[in-house]
Amino acid sequence: MNVLVINCGSSSLKYQLIDSDTEQVLAKGLCERIGIDGALTHQPAGKDKIKIDAPMPTHTEAIALVLEQLTDKENGVISSLDEINAVGHRMVHGGEKFACSALVTDEMIETVETCNIFAPLHNPATLIGVNVCRELLPGKPMVGVFDTAFHQTMPEKAYLYGIPYEYYEKYGVRRYGFHGTSHKFVALRTAEILGKNIEDLKIIVCHLGNGASITAVDGGKSVDTSMGLTPLEGLIMGTRSGDVDPGVLEFIAKQENIGIKEILTILNKKSGVLGLSGVSSDFRDIDAAAEAGNERAAETLEVYAYHVAKYVGSYVAAMNGVDAIVFTAGLGENDKKIREEICSYFGYLGLTIDPVANDIRGKEAIISTQDSKVKALCVPTNEELMICRETVALVK
Ligand code: AMP
Repeated sequence: MNVLVINCGSSSLKYQLIDSDTEQVLAKGLCERIGIDGALTHQPAGKDKIKIDAPMPTHTEAIALVLEQLTDKENGVISSLDEINAVGHRMVHGGEKFACSALVTDEMIETVETCNIFAPLHNPATLIGVNVCRELLPGKPMVGVFDTAFHQTMPEKAYLYGIPYEYYEKYGVRRYGFHGTSHKFVALRTAEILGKNIEDLKIIVCHLGNGASITAVDGGKSVDTSMGLTPLEGLIMGTRSGDVDPGVLEFIAKQENIGIKEILTILNKKSGVLGLSGVSSDFRDIDAAAEAGNERAAETLEVYAYHVAKYVGSYVAAMNGVDAIVFTAGLGENDKKIREEICSYFGYLGLTIDPVANDIRGKEAIISTQDSKVKALCVPTNEELMICRETVALVK
């Protein structure tokens, strides 16, 4: 079965066409600057990337161009749209309404719309993608895969905030968590690599990318995660602050004479390792600056690793133990130094990193020594493949 996986943002759209039987990517690409001018990068498997500048006033033109390229005589990988059997859409926020992926129907879309309040920028963008696909690929089965769904197994004690309960009752203010598709994929793959049943494992997945979150997965279920109502909570990220004392907001607002909107822009776009280091939101730049003697950059890496290690410690307590600590996403998969720095805190768990095994980039590996009681792993995430699998499971 060929599954078209769509990840729609407000001005961009990523796609992959995956053969679900072989799990091979047939083609992938990215539409950028939708609503501004428009550019498509399309890559058929085993061939060079093709860049096409074409006007994309809306997502309709963008998706039409993607479908055109997929069936193009030269750049295409299928001869007609009939060869797309289903579409899987990445969706951001399913609130408490979606504890698993769901078939796209009119009713499903209406329910997703009730969750837009939690992700006012992202959810409407994903729904635009769904609606355009329904228009251009009529009758094709489609599935929505939510970033929040995997975390719906969290117990109340993990998702409630210490604020008046009425805000949860009236507005659904609680921890939801994100990156669920990635956390699920990585936890399942970890169990496979360790040759164990996931039901018997306590796993902590550290998704360390530009956005970062960490999840405690007990017996295959998410029991706690660091992101909250929004993706701002938790770990220090590329440009997001992660946890801060809420009192800091008012303090800065007063000192700088700015309002809540500006404060949130600072916390979302100007904080994290960018704000701390003053160098970049990209760890490659911070690593380079630290190596060149920039003390603030070196300090930033220390603060970052310390925060991750503290979260891991709290999840070990939450699960009363841990079998595996797993690194994934851009930084987690590629930066051996940060993995080493984080793991240096886990001697108390009987975890020792193996510098030779850890000397890898973007590959699956057990990176702890053979005699480590708790295993550390690097497992590249694959959210698109997970969306493909969830789609097949629902449409078959
Ligand atoms: P993601 O959001 O998962 O795509 O991760 C993107 C981030 O991963 C980048 O902003 C970098 O900070 C980080 N990253 C990617 N490659 C490397 C690398 N080779 N070394 C260190 N950090 C990296």
